[in-house]
Amino acid sequence: MKILRTVAEITEFAKAAQQAGKVIGLVPTMGALHEGHLTLMRTAREKCDVVIASVFVNPVQFGPNEDYDAYPRRFEEDCQKLESVGVDAVFHPEPKEMYPDGYGTYVNVESAFTGKLCGGQRPGHFRGVATVVTKLMNLSRAQEAFFGQKDAQQVLVIRRFVKDLNIQVNINMVPIVREESGLARSSRNAYLSPEEKTAALVLSRSLKKAEAAYEAGEKSVEALKKVVREEIATEPMAVIDYVELYSFDELKEIETVNGESLLAIAVKIGKTRLIDNIILG
Ligand code: AMP
Repeated sequence: MKILRTVAEITEFAKAAQQAGKVIGLVPTMGALHEGHLTLMRTAREKCDVVIASVFVNPVQFGPNEDYDAYPRRFEEDCQKLESVGVDAVFHPEPKEMYPDGYGTYVNVESAFTGKLCGGQRPGHFRGVATVVTKLMNLSRAQEAFFGQKDAQQVLVIRRFVKDLNIQVNINMVPIVREESGLARSSRNAYLSPEEKTAALVLSRSLKKAEAAYEAGEKSVEALKKVVREEIATEPMAVIDYVELYSFDELKEIETVNGESLLAIAVKIGKTRLIDNIILG
């Protein structure tokens, strides 16, 4: 596996693959890789000739009081994992390489749905994501890019700017990978103490309860959100950031579930903010 650290190096690698007529797949990550990330890599491996992963903790998508400095960085371990699933190259630049002095261009998706869910609670977050993903798409020359449903709103934001800016890349969304306990895999799970990790099971449990209620015939958005809130309230360590149920395509307000809808939650367990979701309908 090639390790690419500069714009010049990834450009040379991607250009050669493109000129050889290869289908290039891009999998952007912030590292501290787990089974969720590796499932994206395997999906890309099946669909593409050349897989480029990126490991970059993108400073631009973190707010001033967020966990940029504390975010886990384990590049050597990540490389071993990427190699084990057959990734061809990993792009691992320094922040200065991506945002050199004088840098001044940002991608801002202004659609109403950007400001909901995590966009409402983390101002500037999706501007940072859209900017770095645009740069990674340009650098990698990918025809296919792979993202997790874990960050479902992120997928909507990315689909939007790819369409609006006429970027020639196909966006693939991969289902959420969970631990056996139900906990959605996340690099931020590393922050949880054993006690907090047990408390964090309330996220997936509350979504499962709502899903069961939906399957038993409950279609009311208020009632389904109440099922989630009541389950989360049973866990003393859990503090709700949001519990929302919107139409999946545009995150529109709905009263009943009668098409693809996103039940999304953000919950703090101690100091750690976790997200999870399911798609109903
Ligand atoms: P991150 O490193 O957290 O920025 O995530 C990189 C990519 O992996 C994003 O597209 C995430 O949605 C995806 N991802 C993270 N956790 C999971 C998971 N548990 N299941 C599926 N995809 C995931």
